[in-house]
Formats: sequence, C-alpha cells, structure tokens
Amino acid sequence: MTAADPEPRRDLAAHFHADHDEPVPDRVLVIVAHPDDIDFGCAGTVATMTDHGVEVIYAIVTDGDAGEPADLAASDLKAIRRAEQTEAARIVGVEELHWLGFPDGALVADLVLRKALARLIRRVRPDLVITQPPVRDLDRIYASHPDHLAVGEATVCAVYPDARNARSFPDLLDDGCAPHTVPRLWLMGGPSANLHVEISAAFERKVAALRAHHSQNDSRGEGLEAMIRDWVTSTAERVGLPGAMVEGFRSVDTA
Ligand SMILES: [Zn+2]
Repeated sequence: MTAADPEPRRDLAAHFHADHDEPVPDRVLVIVAHPDDIDFGCAGTVATMTDHGVEVIYAIVTDGDAGEPADLAASDLKAIRRAEQTEAARIVGVEELHWLGFPDGALVADLVLRKALARLIRRVRPDLVITQPPVRDLDRIYASHPDHLAVGEATVCAVYPDARNARSFPDLLDDGCAPHTVPRLWLMGGPSANLHVEISAAFERKVAALRAHHSQNDSRGEGLEAMIRDWVTSTAERVGLPGAMVEGFRSVDTA
C-alpha cells in the first residue's frame, strides 16, 4: 500500500478535521528540538499517517543530553536517548531518523541552524513539514522551552524562504541540494490550531512510543497514559468532536 493509492488517501483525509481543505501528504518531515518532543506532540498523527502508507521521516536537532537523569554522563545519556527515540519511531512506523547533533539547551534560530535545516529539507524533499510553534504559549510554559521556540523559528525560515530560494546558502547547490518548495507546514498544538487529526486507532501506540523514552517517562508510571488520554480527549471535546481523540496543529499554506 502506498499513499498514491486513492483509497488510503481518502481514508486518511477522513481523519483530518478542519474548516479548510487539508491536502493529504506523501512524504512528511518532522523536525523537533529533543527526543520525545515528537511523541508528546504528534506520534498519534504519525502512526495514523504511516498506517495509510505515508512516508514519515524524523529530524531531531539535539540529543537531549541536557535532560534527566542529572547523575548520568552526557555522552551516556545521548546514546540512551537516541536509542529510545529510535524505538519510539519504530513503534509508529518510522525508520529514517536524522540526528543534527546541536547542543541541548543552547539552541538559537541562527543562520547555522537554518542552513542545517534547509540542507535537510532539500535532501528529504517533503511535501509537509511538521515542527514546533515558534511562538511562546504563556499558558503552557513547558511546551514553550526555548529550544522548541528556536527550532520552530529556524524551521519556518528554512521552509520559507531558505529551502526554496537558490540564493539562500548558495554553497548548498555545490553539495547537490537543489531548491525545494515545501507547500505545507504544520505547527504542533497551541491555541491557534486550525486542524485536528483523529488518532483513536493510534492512541495505544502513542502511549507506547512515549513509554519507550524510559529515561524521561518511567517516573510518570501509570499517570502518563491518563495524562495523554486527558489531553487528546479534552482537545477533541473543546473543538466539537466529543468522544474522539485528536492532536491539534496550526496548518499553514506555504506554497
Ligand atoms: Zn523538548
């Protein structure tokens, strides 16, 4: 089954709840700051997409080596977190992960990060990029970690204009990275979401993917599933889909 088959595409489109006509992607690149950001934000959507033959690829900008546990050497934590994210990806049908190796806790949306992301976008050539919102949510300060804001801002810049403009980072052309226009951008969560993806059939895998991050989530115990269930059901309730489970996005037309 591939996303080019019309039936899975129609079926996937039925999972998208929006007031606009949301295109069904073929190839998706998810870009986040830390291991586990994808699983909190959109692993249910990723699993729903891969179930329907969409190819999903991950890029994680840091190795999460500034996280818990504090008594572990950073190099050991790096290896552990890469292994945990790789397993979490496998659970939701993702095999290709790109590790950008930037320093955890010290990201800024500068030209170095923009260039790294533009290079990756030109290589992967997705028709949808999913990332973190570049805007601070004062009601959810943990979601607005400075690294998340930096990755969101740098990714938006990489989608428009850097990846599509041949004059941005001209030496990328010498590396064989031809310009590429990403027509659609989704920003995870946030109060300005205009797209909700129904993930009920993928909920268990979202929780399993989160549990794969043992170093971060084992201490949450059974509370983890209850917390995620509350997020996805209360969001559904709020947007008029009672009984559903959804992940929300701000979908942006960047074509
Ligand atoms: Zn994070």
